[in-house]
Amino acid sequence: MGGGSPLPMIEYKDFSLNVHNQAVRTRTVVNAQIELTYGCNLHCVHCYTDCYNRPDLIKRELRYEEVTHILDQLAGEGCLWVCFTGGEIFMRKDFLDIYAYATQKGFLITLFTNGTLFTEAIADHLQQYPPFCIEISCHGATEETFDRITQVKGSFQRFLKGIRLLVERRLPIKIKTKAMTLNKQELDQIKAFVEGLGTQFRLSTLIYPRLNGDLTPATYRLSPDEIVALECQAGEPEERCTEAESQIGPPADDRLFRCGCGTTAVHINAWGQLGTCTWVTERGDLRQQSVADAIAGVFPKIRGAQYQSQTPCRTCTVHTFCDKMPANAAAESGDPEQPVAHFCEVAYKRVAWHGIRAARPVEREARPG
Ligand code: SF4
Ligand code: SF4
Repeated sequence: MGGGSPLPMIEYKDFSLNVHNQAVRTRTVVNAQIELTYGCNLHCVHCYTDCYNRPDLIKRELRYEEVTHILDQLAGEGCLWVCFTGGEIFMRKDFLDIYAYATQKGFLITLFTNGTLFTEAIADHLQQYPPFCIEISCHGATEETFDRITQVKGSFQRFLKGIRLLVERRLPIKIKTKAMTLNKQELDQIKAFVEGLGTQFRLSTLIYPRLNGDLTPATYRLSPDEIVALECQAGEPEERCTEAESQIGPPADDRLFRCGCGTTAVHINAWGQLGTCTWVTERGDLRQQSVADAIAGVFPKIRGAQYQSQTPCRTCTVHTFCDKMPANAAAESGDPEQPVAHFCEVAYKRVAWHGIRAARPVEREARPG
């Protein structure tokens, strides 16, 4: 036995914060999201990847050796957290091999899955080698709603079976729900179901266009009033108002990406193209270049991108309340620099809910002098 003093304990959240702060300072990539496939057994109405769930495109996806080569490079870059997503990751026959490889490399691994393909054998394997987290989407509390959203009959029952297999093994799961027109009537039931499993209910109202620009998913969005009403229900008015007031004001600079894109995270799509997030089209091809070269090529362009036109977003005083992302705004407004009407409406309603007066750019422009 050594005689040294015991190492001090540190909580995970503090550890994570320290690593991220240091990563920002040293410009180190510590997070990687890897889309392993666009194949999926479901066809959710709001899904942004389902447009690429086609046999001819799936054939072009990264092979096992390519994925492991990328994982080697990410480890060399100092990456710590890896999230495997799809499509549906368990559609890949070699998923558990990829998972085993990533586990051996020491990554903290998150799995995004629809939960419908779990078997006893997969659940046993995950119990033996537990991931950091398994995130599963719950679309509804009833078979009718769930299967209507996934457009696959029987998916709700398979989802319930998957959840049961994971809960029985006490695996670390998080369940998230995308609130939309088709499930808004049963959000309370979903919340009760999720909390009944001993997990936190996580709700999102963000629905974006498909990766090929198809706007169909946007037709399932809740109205801005419904979105803000849901947020009010979950919020603590007084605290949020205090914080909110200080967030009003024009951006400090003309950067196009104000979201932190191009600092500590990479997104790698199923064809091996590296970007800063799911929707950016500025990408490096990992079949032609290394991870380090792709990062060096893409990140400065994203960080350095500036507004070129006089758009309301450029000087928007409520931009911190807005979910518009330039990377996919082009699909909705025809121009990454222009406002997206839906997100604009939501942002101003959030501000109004906080009781803060913020004039829309158009209103300001209309005023004399
Ligand atoms: S389960 Fe996920 S990947 Fe599959 S169709 Fe639904 S949203 Fe898309
Ligand atoms: S979409 Fe509207 S609220 Fe959002 S940044 Fe642009 S002008 Fe501001």
